[in-house]
Amino acid sequence: MTERGQIPDFHGPHVDSPQPGHIKLTWYEPTRRAQRIRVVSHTCECRRTTYELCAAAGQGFVRRTDRDNDTVRETAWTLTAIARHTFDQILQGEAR
Ligand SMILES: [Zn+2]
Repeated sequence: MTERGQIPDFHGPHVDSPQPGHIKLTWYEPTRRAQRIRVVSHTCECRRTTYELCAAAGQGFVRRTDRDNDTVRETAWTLTAIARHTFDQILQGEAR
C-alpha cells in the first residue's frame, strides 16, 4: 500500500498538456519490488490521470494512475534525482 504522509494533501499541481516533441516515457506494469513505497509528491486528484513521484528501496520512479482505464503503470526505477526530474518534465508537459 502507499502512504501519503500525515498532512492531507489532496490538491497537487496540474499537469500541463504535452508539448510537441515531448519525451515519450516507457511505462511498465508495476513491479512491486519493494515492501514500502513512499509517495513523495503527486499531481492533483481532480484529474482522471494522476502522476506520483515515488521513492522505495533507495530508488525513485513515477507512477501513473489512469482512472478511465483503471490502469497503473510506472517508469523504470532509477536514481531519485532522475525520477524527480522526470516528474517535473511530466508536470511541464515535456514528457509523458
Ligand atoms: Zn485539481
